[in-house]
Amino acid sequence: MPSNSDNTLPEFKFNLNNQSVRELPYGWAKQATVIDFPVSKNIAGVLMYLKPGGLRELHWHANAAEWGYVISGNVRTTIVDPEGRFEYNEFKEGDIWYFPRGHGHSIEGLSPEGTTFMLVFDNGSFSEFATFSLTDWLSQTPKEIVAKNLGLSQEELNSLPDKEVYIVPASENIGDKSENSSPLTHKYELMSQSPTHDHDGGKLWISSSVEFPISETITGAILQLNPGSLRELHWHPNADEWIYILSGKIRLTVFASSAKSSVVELEKGEVGYTPMGYGHSIENIGEEVCKIIVVFNSGVYEEISLTSWLSSNPESIVSGNLNLPPEIVKKLPKKEKFIISGKK
Ligand code: MN
Ligand code: MN
Repeated sequence: MPSNSDNTLPEFKFNLNNQSVRELPYGWAKQATVIDFPVSKNIAGVLMYLKPGGLRELHWHANAAEWGYVISGNVRTTIVDPEGRFEYNEFKEGDIWYFPRGHGHSIEGLSPEGTTFMLVFDNGSFSEFATFSLTDWLSQTPKEIVAKNLGLSQEELNSLPDKEVYIVPASENIGDKSENSSPLTHKYELMSQSPTHDHDGGKLWISSSVEFPISETITGAILQLNPGSLRELHWHPNADEWIYILSGKIRLTVFASSAKSSVVELEKGEVGYTPMGYGHSIENIGEEVCKIIVVFNSGVYEEISLTSWLSSNPESIVSGNLNLPPEIVKKLPKKEKFIISGKK
């Protein structure tokens, strides 16, 4: 059976695992951008690994804010804003960061075992022509200007890299203390919070700009579903949804209006995408608990679920619309279910 009901629909699934790796001595990165995954116009992702002491060099993104989730290990970030205010933070598994568009930052792996994290950007084309790295910049600038700017002689700059390094060893430990002169923190300990939704079938941890005020353009979440459980049919009026499967196996249904829809299965390492306003559901079809990173390109979280919608309407409307007898309509959920348990 074709995964799409209509071949004019794009693919809503992308295998990040199969992407070629940008491999460097101190780490690697794999990315899912709009180039390879055309439906993902507004959100892109990068899976990154840093060896101990590996530094994702100082850089900024001209067209996207960056949201990060630590999958395993520990990292330290530095960030500066246009007022010169800065923050250094350390992150553990389950913590997230948010860096506003254009703000200069770096990420350093601290764990002896290495550190893996997911970066998500609120622009599908964040990568090509829009990530500005320190070494790329300085190597593209006449040496005498760099020397003049830094108050050094050109000879003193002889060892400057002659092209972008991307990931390098960090030569010295700056110490383990967090420093902050920013009014708002860039760090949120997402998985240390109580879940926003806690049901028999699963849980959802949300961080919108309500919980994490600096995160003005992105809402991030972790969805955990027990085997057989369903994150019910719903849509988001204000945002696209990007998902990455950390563990388990799911079925994603996407309804694209006009008799068009898609049903795909996703496993660990795969990315799914649902454009703004498209109806969708996520069901755990595996044997294990599944854990999913969910990111929306709005700092305001909005959704309408099927059960909430139907239960808020008069029974006569639902009965007539769905051609269901009134006694059947009376059995429908009386309020939003959100997650429906797979347990019989
Ligand atoms: Mn970045
Ligand atoms: Mn959703």
